[in-house]
Amino acid sequence: MQKKRVLFSGSRTDFYFDASFDVLEKIVSKEKAVIITDENVLKAHQRKLKGYNTIVLKSGEQYKVQQTVDVIIDQLIAMGANRQTILVGFGGGVITDITGYVAGIFMRGVKVGYIPSTLLAMVDAAIGGKNGIDVGVYKNMVGLIRQPSFLIYDYSLLKTLPLKEWQNGFAEIIKHACIKDAKMFAELSANSIPKYRKQPNLLAELIKRNAGIKIKVVQQDEFETGERKLLNFGHTLGHAIENMYELSHGEAISIGMTYATLMSQQLLLLKSGEDIIKLLKRYGLPTVAGFDADKAFKIMLKDKKRAEDAIQYILLGKIGKGVVQPIPIEQLKAIFKQF
Ligand code: NAD
Repeated sequence: MQKKRVLFSGSRTDFYFDASFDVLEKIVSKEKAVIITDENVLKAHQRKLKGYNTIVLKSGEQYKVQQTVDVIIDQLIAMGANRQTILVGFGGGVITDITGYVAGIFMRGVKVGYIPSTLLAMVDAAIGGKNGIDVGVYKNMVGLIRQPSFLIYDYSLLKTLPLKEWQNGFAEIIKHACIKDAKMFAELSANSIPKYRKQPNLLAELIKRNAGIKIKVVQQDEFETGERKLLNFGHTLGHAIENMYELSHGEAISIGMTYATLMSQQLLLLKSGEDIIKLLKRYGLPTVAGFDADKAFKIMLKDKKRAEDAIQYILLGKIGKGVVQPIPIEQLKAIFKQF
């Protein structure tokens, strides 16, 4: 096991890499912990939860909503939870997002830790303190930025992960490669999901490398005034179509990255986006989609990255170099008309 303590602006997070779920007992007593998980994770890893207070949610993005928050809070009250209670989100990004949010508001804030159980949550969602819930088609409309106390990385949890969820996780890994790491982009282009699944050391390195990218970006700009915006590559359009068409997060941002790549080409920032689209396909991700551009555009106007009359769109200067490009709303509208 490798413990890495990371300092953010007002707090610290302990990352336990190459760890086992059982480390949890050493960090938090079973009496103080309340684990929040979903039905699929429970089914696959029930034995691990023995002796813990547990709240089990239905699985899926459609449950990342206020109604679920209310249900969790009712259960916490019924369990006799108090300010010493430590919430533990054990699951994918839906679980870590909602657990982090509840921890931020329950009794004005209790400690929270995560045991991410999807590749996507390990490399992205569980890191950086952003949490929240959706409101209708508007993704992550309500939430907080608040860092967890600890993250436990048990890669063996991924053994039960369906192929589709591996593909979703690789969407965020490819995002990191596109905006920050040309070397990793080359590595990904030479490898594949079956290869990473067969080689635990290769996978562990990839997860740590991606966690490292995200940690570094968040440390530089925890509250998203600049650098952190880059992590939204593929997300402006992705978020607009995710709930509209009930796509998975990985699928939605893969489509978003494809269009952002085409826009980068069109605006002459990027010479060729061919390799990016090839890589997304290599990892089983969608790159084309028929969607209602007008409707998507309307949802995009509510984007958190909107400033008065422009949207801070994330484009690529080259592979490994993301750039924040303010695009006037009218120009963006014209671009979307062509799609
Ligand atoms: P998810 O939590 O819905 O998990 C995907 C599916 O895998 C679910 O059906 C879940 O039950 C199942 N699952 C989880 N672990 C499993 C395991 N070990 N074995 C078998 N099945 C398992 O979704 P996700 O893809 O992990 O995360 C997507 C969410 O993360 C979205 O809501 C997105 O907005 C959010 N996100 C947040 C951030 C952030 O910075 N906070 C970043 C990226 C994504």
